[in-house]
Amino acid sequence: MHPHILRQFGYEDLLLQFCAVNPGPTADLILPTLKPSDLVPHTYESFANELAQERNNLVTLDAKPTDPFPPRCLTYVTDFLYAADVSPPDPAFLLGCSCTNEDPAAPACGTPNSGCSCAERVTHDQPTSTYKPGPKSRAKGRKRPPAALHSGHYNEERRLIAAKRGDRRTVGVAECAAQCMCPPQCTNRVVQHGVQVRMVVRYDKYKGWAAIADQDVIAGTFVAQYLGEVVTVDEAHARTLTYNRLGYSTYLYDMDFWANEMEDMGLPGIKFAIDAQFKGNVARFFNHSCDANLLAAAVLYDAAEPHHHRLAFFARRDIKRGEELCFDYQGGREETGDDAGSLPEFERLRFECHCGSANCRKVIF
Ligand SMILES: [Zn+2]
Ligand SMILES: [Zn+2]
Ligand SMILES: [Zn+2]
Repeated sequence: MHPHILRQFGYEDLLLQFCAVNPGPTADLILPTLKPSDLVPHTYESFANELAQERNNLVTLDAKPTDPFPPRCLTYVTDFLYAADVSPPDPAFLLGCSCTNEDPAAPACGTPNSGCSCAERVTHDQPTSTYKPGPKSRAKGRKRPPAALHSGHYNEERRLIAAKRGDRRTVGVAECAAQCMCPPQCTNRVVQHGVQVRMVVRYDKYKGWAAIADQDVIAGTFVAQYLGEVVTVDEAHARTLTYNRLGYSTYLYDMDFWANEMEDMGLPGIKFAIDAQFKGNVARFFNHSCDANLLAAAVLYDAAEPHHHRLAFFARRDIKRGEELCFDYQGGREETGDDAGSLPEFERLRFECHCGSANCRKVIF
């Protein structure tokens, strides 16, 4: 099945290359969870229909006849899809706050010094990273930055305070959740309510498909979270090797924001990764910029277990309609060091950066 499908897309050379370096059972190795229907190539119409799955038609396609063919295959998702061997988080373990907001004069959850156990939860500012395969490669050379104490994650207009400040480094956020006593309108519930910003997906000759703001966006506003299949790190590693060999871009993200804390407790640092290669949402089209207009945040709202955090993007400055939406694939870290670890030469892909900003590092990773 797979060799035939790859041939259909004109990937014979890549397939031969893949088989030459990996003479295993090809069909088992290539994208084991895919059904043939997942690989049906998109027309512009079917691609637009996928994007239309986003709530309230907030994401649309702007394609020209001269654009290259749409992404080979992408199923649009509006929440995580958990792989068969990944247990979704269990809401029974959530710890909720006891803010009832009964007194209109008392501060609601999330406003500074509200005393809300969710909004005042200590989070550690450390970068999350693109997927780097290889055991322990992630932890190498990473120093623990001082823990930052946020007095409320969001302001009363539901804008992320760290993003409003223009922070570059990924931040941690604990939203109110099912177990909290507060109402759904509480200001400490933002990402869980879904995308609120209009966006257009458009082709750029340097960057490929990109997402553009289709409205002005005020600094601190939640834009979208990164959705896809949630897979185990072992599966993520296997998929990375396969995608690299096939010459595909990588859409894998570690859910590793609290890895150091987990390891300090004798637990695995990372258990899962998000793969948006075939199942994803608009955030799949956010490209890298060394001077990004989006800030990434690791967000917990349906899981007590930090391994199950979400990855959400907020405007880190005011964004004008028509601007491309970009985030920093290095999570705001300064170094670009090659930590491909023990991978063979063949796997070491370097991606040049075309963001054009004054502080461009020239290499994405
Ligand atoms: Zn609360
Ligand atoms: Zn609340
Ligand atoms: Zn709460």
